[in-house]
Amino acid sequence: MKLLKDKIVQDGKVLSDQVLKVDSFLNHQIDPPLMQAIGEEFAERFKDAGITKILTLESSGIAPSMMAGLILGVPVIFARKRKSLTLIDHLYTASVHSFTKNETNDISVSKDFVTSEDTVLLIDDFLANGQAVLGLLDIIEQAGAKLAGVGIVIEKGFQPGGALIREQDIRVESLANIASLENGQVTFFEGALSK
Ligand code: 5GP
Repeated sequence: MKLLKDKIVQDGKVLSDQVLKVDSFLNHQIDPPLMQAIGEEFAERFKDAGITKILTLESSGIAPSMMAGLILGVPVIFARKRKSLTLIDHLYTASVHSFTKNETNDISVSKDFVTSEDTVLLIDDFLANGQAVLGLLDIIEQAGAKLAGVGIVIEKGFQPGGALIREQDIRVESLANIASLENGQVTFFEGALSK
């Protein structure tokens, strides 16, 4: 997706060979027209998949998921990372290890919102080692729902998550796939783009 890749090159900050900071349009400040274009792209790629719900993880997955949900005309559910006072019981939970934060957290989704009747599209902001997606897949499995596929805004293809998910025969669509962040440069899999 050219618009997204141009934005990454223009505004993304390479923090290390492993980590890209996109606080100015996705992870802190949000760029609504870009989110709309991302939502349209996910909706186009998954329009024939019979999706009934989108499942994401708070907080950075919400904006792109919301736009895709608006266009596909389906509800968006975000898994919670903290237990809320009103979300005590009746939950699907899974453990997710974050390599960026070096901590393991439980994520949870109410049993009211994902059921065996659903065909679910998973969306997340980044795919790195795949742990967040694996946690969401675990919840879909517990619910007995059908998985349509996984939509990722930015995949870091040099990390193992993409292969881990795809080798389970799961459809993964990433809108930008980064081949390398070495030397402070962002290089995508389809041809070189640098900063
Ligand atoms: P995974 O579970 O695939 O290792 O990592 C996915 C999660 O870690 C994403 O939801 C995202 O919040 C965070 N993450 C992983 N790598 C990066 C990165 O390079 N930049 C940012 N901003 N977040 C990342």
